[in-house]
Parts: sequence; structure tokens; C-alpha cells
Amino acid sequence: MKIIAIGRNYAAHARELGNRVPGEPLIFMKPSTAVITSGQPFIYPSFSGDIHYELEVIVEISRKGKNISRENYREYFDRISLGIDFTARDLQKKCKDKGRPWEIAKAFDGSAAIGQWIDKFPFDFHNLHFELLKNDKPVQKGHTATMIFQLDYLMEYISKFFTLEPGDIIFTGTPEGVGPVKPGDHLRGLLEGNNILNCEIKGL
Ligand code: MG
Repeated sequence: MKIIAIGRNYAAHARELGNRVPGEPLIFMKPSTAVITSGQPFIYPSFSGDIHYELEVIVEISRKGKNISRENYREYFDRISLGIDFTARDLQKKCKDKGRPWEIAKAFDGSAAIGQWIDKFPFDFHNLHFELLKNDKPVQKGHTATMIFQLDYLMEYISKFFTLEPGDIIFTGTPEGVGPVKPGDHLRGLLEGNNILNCEIKGL
């Protein structure tokens, strides 16, 4: 499986990191070795001193898809959850400054925390509230209606370049409020008020 992640998909988040709002989706990937599931700890890596959380709504692909048209996007996934796109912000800044790819900052082992899946979810994907609590304090609040590129468009765009396969996961971008974690912190993700993601930060 692969993870396809969208960067800068909420205008206020793009601005908080000093980036312009993109004219087309910004896409990067994470490998299967990036995945940790809800309840597993995130182990703070030795190569970074500035790991950030980014809470995102995620969907799991249920059917093979290439050149998906946006009208049919709903046929390609059954379940949704929340994920944390852990980012080594210090390494990412170095990569950006040098014009290099981001993988070492975004796709390292454990960099994708995945919450409990909600099957056949009863919600409208484009009307979801989600929230991240750090040590029980709210730090990020988002609403999928404010995504710059909505999921129907993203699936059409992504599948022009990459065949989507069952088990692949799309991370749809993070709202504003990203920030650092340190060993001992506890992160909780809420989707429509339901706590479906738990992740403790541990030292090496
Ligand atoms: Mg992200």
C-alpha cells in the first residue's frame, strides 16, 4: 500500500507556514513503513529536534482506480478515519531551502498515525468537523468544507498520475494550528466528536 498526502490544502495552514495557497494540489507520498495504528506510540526520532503533528481526515481506497472522474469519486472508498502526518519541520525546512524532495522529513518510519476506521460512514465527506487535542487541550480544529481542493477533485487529479489500489490511503491535508510534540505528550483525534485516534509520544 501507499499513502498519498496533500500539502497546503487549507488556506490558513498554508499561510501559517509562510506558503502561498497553491494553484494545484501539492502531493507527496509515504510508504507502508510509515504507518502506526491508533494506540501505538510515536517514537521520537533521533534525526529531528522539531517534530510537528498535522491532523488530517483520511480515506482508504476500496477499489482500483485510474483516471477517476470526479462525479464517481464516492465509488472508490468505503471508510474514513483521522491520521496524523508527523513532520520533521526542521528537516523539511532544509529540504525546502535546498529545493530537495521532502521524503526524509515526511515519510520516515512511524510518520503516519492512523485512527480507527469508520466503515460505511454515515456522514457527508465534505461536511466533517475534526479536532486534535494535545494533552487534553484543543490545538487544531478543522472542517472539510474549507479544503481548498475537495476530495472529488483530488481523486480525479491523483489518479491521473498514480493508479489507486485497495488499501491505499489518502491524507487530505491539515488545517491551521500545527505545532511541536515532545516525549510524554498524548494526542487525541476527534471526528464529529468521536475519539478515534490516540497516540502517545515516546522518547527513544
Ligand atoms: Mg500534512
